[in-house]
Amino acid sequence: MSLFRKETAPAAEYPVQKTAAEWRATLSPEAYRVLREHGTERPGTSPLNAEKRRGTFACAGCGNPLFESGTKFESGTGWPSFFAPIEGEDHVGTTTDRSFFMTRTEVHCAKCGGHLGHVFPDGPPPTGLRYCMNGVSLRFEPVADEG
Ligand SMILES: [Zn+2]
Repeated sequence: MSLFRKETAPAAEYPVQKTAAEWRATLSPEAYRVLREHGTERPGTSPLNAEKRRGTFACAGCGNPLFESGTKFESGTGWPSFFAPIEGEDHVGTTTDRSFFMTRTEVHCAKCGGHLGHVFPDGPPPTGLRYCMNGVSLRFEPVADEG
């Protein structure tokens, strides 16, 4: 039962809580649609697909760090893809998504519950996982060049 509870944490358990109106005031319409309404951006539309600098991909909703650039890979799907999130329960969470007559693993921000995308078991080594993310759910923060 504890596993079930962990995987389906109700919205009230997320540390970052905002009303729909508050989210709408801070997010673009497209980011709101994806993060708060489990939407999916059109493939190939995110500038983050081509982002190759070193840095951190954070939640566009609350700024929570989610992925490091070293885990990003070119999946050919048109969505920014990673083989692993930043470790720890505070960063990325998952739930089982049975919409659209499929069973998929939904990926969300562990701080605000914002929908990020899905994870599939067809990624590259070392994890074999493909975190297929909506770029609009992410905000890239490049590492400042030393010197
Ligand atoms: Zn968040």
